[in-house]
Amino acid sequence: MNAAFNDDIGWLEELDRISHNFEYSNPQEILRWALETYGDKLTMATAFGAEGCIIIDMLAKLRDQTGLVPDLFNLETGYQFQETLDLRERLIEKYNLPIRFVGAKETVAQMEANFGGPIYGSDPNTCCHIRKVVPLKDALGGFSAWITAIRRDQTPERKAAPIVGPDVKFPHLVKVNPLANWSKDQVWDYVRAHDVPTNVLHEQGFPSIGCWPCTRPVALGEDDRAGRWAGTDKRECGLHIGEDGKMTRISKPVEKVAAPVHF
Ligand code: SF4
Repeated sequence: MNAAFNDDIGWLEELDRISHNFEYSNPQEILRWALETYGDKLTMATAFGAEGCIIIDMLAKLRDQTGLVPDLFNLETGYQFQETLDLRERLIEKYNLPIRFVGAKETVAQMEANFGGPIYGSDPNTCCHIRKVVPLKDALGGFSAWITAIRRDQTPERKAAPIVGPDVKFPHLVKVNPLANWSKDQVWDYVRAHDVPTNVLHEQGFPSIGCWPCTRPVALGEDDRAGRWAGTDKRECGLHIGEDGKMTRISKPVEKVAAPVHF
């Protein structure tokens, strides 16, 4: 199975079957399958959330077992926190995995000059489009599949995310969400058990970290993404949703299979 499968319905059904079979699998099994299936056509974009960091830890261990290394990149919007940039360096040093930067053609200074100032406050959708969506689209051009760190319990929009599915934004791609079924507690248990480097801002009240102009700490009782684009109805940067505002092209509801299938 690959992204060149030319029967769209058959391809969707095949991805749906694979995704359901993985409902009881651990993330390492899902990642190993993705590495063995897509090889050098597999990539991962990370903003170094705790979820992304544990996937990097898992990929480094799989690299040691299989010799397979996926492409890894960070969308450097020019508005990332210094703490996030520092974390990238710490991860590269610990795991000896290259994590390249991908960015917009215009620098922040050039874009702000074009618009007469920053637009993250007045028009965050355009800002995200220029600094995230367009560079991501360019970066994903040569790949067949990408890994994301989405969890279903992060937002209502993410609840229907399959473990493996067609990407709604980039139709040539398969999206692999190895942590779709994991909880926040499972993520942090893994961080502690494996001594995974994470962003120091998590200890300062930032459970979800994006660009500094659009991220604030959250208060007790708020949901983890409440600090992202706070005060607006924006919930996603546009990387994971299609034109219809949905995150999946699979019409069937996400549900557990009757019996686990091991890969
Ligand atoms: S998160 Fe904010 S600063 Fe970053 S690209 Fe989007 S609107 Fe711009």
